Amino acid sequence: MPGPEGQGEAGTSQNTDVLAKAYAYTRPQEVKALGLYPYFLPVEQSDATEVMIEGKRRVMVGSNNYLGLTNDPRVLEAASAALRKYGSACTGSRFLNGNTDLHDRLETELAKLVNKDAALVFPTGYQANLGVISALAGPGDVLLIDKLNHASMVDGATLSGAEVVRFRHADLAHLEARLNRAAGRPKMVIVDGVFSMEGDVADIPSLADLCDAHSARLVVDDAHGIGVFGETGAGVCEHFGATHRVDLIVGTFSKSFASIGGFVAGDEQVISYIRHTARSLIFSASIPASACATVLAAIEIMGEEPERRERLWANARRMQRDLSALGFDTFGSESPIVPVIVGGTLRTFEFWKRLLDAGVFTNPVIAPAVPATSGRIRTSYMATHTESQLDFVLEAFRRVGREMDLI
Ligand code: PMP
Repeated sequence: MPGPEGQGEAGTSQNTDVLAKAYAYTRPQEVKALGLYPYFLPVEQSDATEVMIEGKRRVMVGSNNYLGLTNDPRVLEAASAALRKYGSACTGSRFLNGNTDLHDRLETELAKLVNKDAALVFPTGYQANLGVISALAGPGDVLLIDKLNHASMVDGATLSGAEVVRFRHADLAHLEARLNRAAGRPKMVIVDGVFSMEGDVADIPSLADLCDAHSARLVVDDAHGIGVFGETGAGVCEHFGATHRVDLIVGTFSKSFASIGGFVAGDEQVISYIRHTARSLIFSASIPASACATVLAAIEIMGEEPERRERLWANARRMQRDLSALGFDTFGSESPIVPVIVGGTLRTFEFWKRLLDAGVFTNPVIAPAVPATSGRIRTSYMATHTESQLDFVLEAFRRVGREMDLI
C-alpha cells in the first residue's frame, strides 16, 4: 500500500510518480484557509526596525539584524560604491572567476576579527557548514552534534558520510558518554554558539575540555554570536576567552553583518584544505563584491561603535526581563533571541497572527524545528530598536497573551 508520502510497493499506479506526494500535500492551503499562514510574507519596504506589510507598518522583532546595520547610510554607500566598481554579480565560483580583491580583503578582516590565522568566505552560512563538514569528515569518522544544532550542520554531517551521533541539548554528560563510545576513532564535536530557536549559549570551555580529553576536534557555528557576544563582538568564543581552544569558527553575514554569505575561520593549513575541497564553495557562485563591501563596512562600524552592542544588550535584557515579568516562558534566553513558548502548532500560528494584526512582526516556530508541544514565537532584538517600539511590542504581547489565556 502506498504510504502517506506516496511511497509504496513498486509497480502500483500511485507510487510510480515521484510528484504524487507534492500533489497530495495540502497543509499550506489548509492553514491559509484558516487565515493563519505565516510564511513568505512579502515585506514592501524596510527601515530595519519597522517594515511595511500589506500597506501597514509593523515593528520588526523577527529578524537577525542584531546591530541594525542593514539601513545604515555608511553600509549602503559602501555597497553602492562596490556595485558601481564591480557590477552586480561575479557570475561564477570564487574558484574560477568569481573572486575579487574585496573577497580577499574580507577574509583578512574576518580572520583578524575572530582571532584565527585564516578565513574563507562561502556563498551562505548554510553552504559554509555544508562544505566545511563534508570536506573534513568522511566514512569512518564520528561527528557529534547537539540535538538542537541548526539544520545546516545536520545536513553537512549527513552529506559527509561520517557516522552522525546526536547528543541531548547542552548535556555534557551525554556527550561524554557518546565520546567514550567513539574512542579510537577520528571525532569532531559541532555546536551552535548561540542556539537560534532557544537563545541559549553553548558552554564552550566545558565542550573544549571534553574535546581535549577525548582527542576530538571542536567546531562552533557562531551565526548568532558574532557581532553580539565578546569584548570586540567576535562572538561566544571570545566571550569565554576560549578562541584558541576551538578548531574552527563558522559564521554568517546574514545576521549582524547585514548582508548575505558565510565563512569559516581556523588554522591556515585547514582553511587551505577546505578552500580546495569544499564542494559547496567550488560549485556555487560567490557573493557579489557589494556584499563583501557591506560586511567590511559592518565590521568597521562594529569596531568603531562598541556602544551599538551595548544598546543591543540593553534592549535584549529589557525584553528578556519584561516578557518574563508578564508571565511568559522565555526559555531562559541568554541572548537577543527571546522565545515565547505558546504550545501546539495552530495555537502558535494564531498567536503570531494576532501579534501581526497588532503591528508586531515575529516568527512562529513549530515542530519539527522544536518539540510539538513547545511551539513558540521567536523574537529577536536590534541595537536600533527604540524604547517606544519595545513598549509597543510588550503591550501587544500583554494584550494577545491575555486574550489567548497564556498569561
Ligand atoms: N547557522 C545557524 C546557527 C543559523 O541560524 C543559520 C541561519 N538561520 C545558518 C547557519 C545559515 O546561515 P545563512 O543564512 O548565511 O545561510
